[in-house]
Amino acid sequence: MAILPIITAPDPRLAKKARPVEKVEASVRELMDDMLETMYEAPGIGLAAPQVGVLKRIIVVDCAKTDEKPQPYKLANPEILWRSDELLTNNEGCLSLPEHYADVTRPAEIKVRYLDEQNEIRELHAKGLLATCIQHEIDHLEGTLFVDHISALKRNIILRKLAKLKRQKVPAPA
Ligand SMILES: [Zn+2]
Repeated sequence: MAILPIITAPDPRLAKKARPVEKVEASVRELMDDMLETMYEAPGIGLAAPQVGVLKRIIVVDCAKTDEKPQPYKLANPEILWRSDELLTNNEGCLSLPEHYADVTRPAEIKVRYLDEQNEIRELHAKGLLATCIQHEIDHLEGTLFVDHISALKRNIILRKLAKLKRQKVPAPA
């Protein structure tokens, strides 16, 4: 397994739409495992393949609390089949927008169909933080970031700060 570099905003690669996975085979399983390791290391509770520069419809999430045992999910081609009318607001963050958070309102429960690591079709009924997290990661597959759900004013403040941070990152002298 390997820790992969995470792309941070602003970056045009984070705005692209990801392509479906044809079949979950060994190379996809390896990517899923690398993504999980990268996510745990960050640390984060979700990661989408475009965030590590792979334009494929693959996400990993683990919303277990720190005192619970890990509960990783690996989803290829996730598709939301149903959304509840009831909404839930969570203070969201993103490994591609480090140290920035904002309240985002989304459906409180969803039903998702996906391919698991064995290429089997599965359905998952998610609620609470898990539902928020899966919707956030599926957004990445469409080139959407959580800041796209908030006001343009707040979004621009965050993106400008991140752009400035990038400009300040000069290579360390050898
Ligand atoms: Zn994210």
